[in-house]
Amino acid sequence: MPIRLLDEDTIGKIAAGEVIERPASVVKELVENALDAGARSVRVEIQAGGRELIRVSDDGHGIPAEELPLAIQRHATSKVTRFDDLARLTSYGFRGEALASIAAVAELRIVSRPPDSPHAAALVSRNGRVEPPTTVPAAPGTTVTVRDLFAHVPARRAFLRQDHTEAAYVQRVVAACALAAPEVRFELVVDGRTVLATDGSGDLGNTIVGVFGPDIAAEMVPIVPPADDEHDPERPAVTVSGYVGLPTLTRGNRQHIILLVNRRWIESRSLTFALEQAYHSLIMVGRFPVAVLHITVAPDRLDVNVHPTKREVRFSDERLVFAAIQRAVRGTLTQHTPAQTIPSFTTTPLTAPAVQRRMALTHPNRFRPTPPPPPEGAPADDPDPGMTVVPDPGSAVPVLRVLGQVGATYIIAEGPDGMYLIDQHAAHERVLFEQLWQQYERAKPDIQTLLEPLVIELTPTQLETAERCREEMVQIGFHIEPFGGSAVAVRAVPAIAARRDPRAVLLGILDEMAAGGRGTTLLESLTISTACHSAIRAGQTLSLAEMRELIAQLERCTAPRACGHGRPTMLHLSQEELERQFERR
Ligand code: ADP
Ligand code: MG
Repeated sequence: MPIRLLDEDTIGKIAAGEVIERPASVVKELVENALDAGARSVRVEIQAGGRELIRVSDDGHGIPAEELPLAIQRHATSKVTRFDDLARLTSYGFRGEALASIAAVAELRIVSRPPDSPHAAALVSRNGRVEPPTTVPAAPGTTVTVRDLFAHVPARRAFLRQDHTEAAYVQRVVAACALAAPEVRFELVVDGRTVLATDGSGDLGNTIVGVFGPDIAAEMVPIVPPADDEHDPERPAVTVSGYVGLPTLTRGNRQHIILLVNRRWIESRSLTFALEQAYHSLIMVGRFPVAVLHITVAPDRLDVNVHPTKREVRFSDERLVFAAIQRAVRGTLTQHTPAQTIPSFTTTPLTAPAVQRRMALTHPNRFRPTPPPPPEGAPADDPDPGMTVVPDPGSAVPVLRVLGQVGATYIIAEGPDGMYLIDQHAAHERVLFEQLWQQYERAKPDIQTLLEPLVIELTPTQLETAERCREEMVQIGFHIEPFGGSAVAVRAVPAIAARRDPRAVLLGILDEMAAGGRGTTLLESLTISTACHSAIRAGQTLSLAEMRELIAQLERCTAPRACGHGRPTMLHLSQEELERQFERR
């Protein structure tokens, strides 16, 4: 085929492919236009997942009748005139291609009336053909209606998911926009049913109630600014505010994590990771926190023009942002959860009461982490699969009276409200993990120098792992040197590991690290692993005094609920539950 220029229609459809991927992308562009127009109230309506109809109405400054035909042309924008403007951008839009892209792949109708105009003008575009504007009666503001999305783009249509899934994507977009602009009233109506409504009060807490509902909002707390932020003149290069869920509030996917940078909703794996890391070891593996973070950076440290739908941004120093998120979130969590909640024996109704009771008592495995989350970006249906741990809201580690040991594995204790079973290994692992981490943070690992260097033969994998983790191993107190061939000489180990056979501890750690480790960084994995391999084992008989000491140490932990691997350290059978189990009431 000879080279030739594409016709306008084809160019438009290709360009639209970048911006308009699915109904949610249309909604995002239209809502952002409404916000750019200074709207105080935005109503979004969709039918059949947005495939049949998307309508966004606002009370913003409108589009003058004579500019209407221009609005739907590509590269037509009222928001920037020069490329340099992007550095100081305060509007969501700047590419001037959203309306044009929508017009290329759907039927588009815009009705708009600037407040000082006596009536509204309407513009209809079908299949890229624009009909001359007409005058119609309407309230001030703009209503954009999009019908039959992708009716003429079969390839795109084929990629759409089921209506309820598309609707879930739309809901996430509207949620994010509402959380980005708490002073604007939002309403989302899906097939005639209002699924989201915010009050426009300007209060983020109220907005969260409107977006996530009162139950979730009740378990969220405002981010406490780090103390040193106020006085440092260099700050705030990056500030983080918003709300985070307590560790008791978790979801099976990342749908309830909303990151806003300068009021722009972004998706960032690395910043999401920073958030999750702040929850590390506070929530179970495979569960995800709920959070709404408003991140503010100087506009000139941010490039918003790196993605056609502006979903990603680039920071001039992402590490700063990463650190700021971790600090703010971790700081807030430690203030709100000085002592962690304890998984309770109480189970949610699953089966007949008798069966449920038996399972609760005989299947501690059911308190293990839930199955892995659905793939990244999956929509908001959160079935909460099989989560049977109901965290006890009353929740510090209470003062416990040790009664004895069960199966040389569990410590049985009595507390103010019933009975506790503590997994001695998991509990000790938690204690050692926190000790080791503190020592690392103070840059003072407690080490035990060996009387004579211990020479150990390693497998090639173990050797390679030891080399990969060398720096981190030093940071927590291992002093290891190459000893020719595949051997190493161990000169010192972390003090906590000295109680056990250093050879077994080291090999255990190297094997776990080779298998990937369980932390979010090499150092954390190493710390978790070292704590685990140094801790008392299941099957080890303990004296009453040893058990009491262990419980006392656990009480002093900041997150006594789970071991470093995320397994629970204790189970609780409340007085009430005991009475119920024995049918005393
Ligand atoms: P951009 O938002 O990047 O400027 P769009 O294609 O989304 O490009 O919109 C083109 C222009 O149409 C905008 O610059 C704005 O002037 C006007 N416009 C679009 N939607 C609205 C609205 N809801 N209210 C007022 N003006 C609007
Ligand atoms: Mg726009």
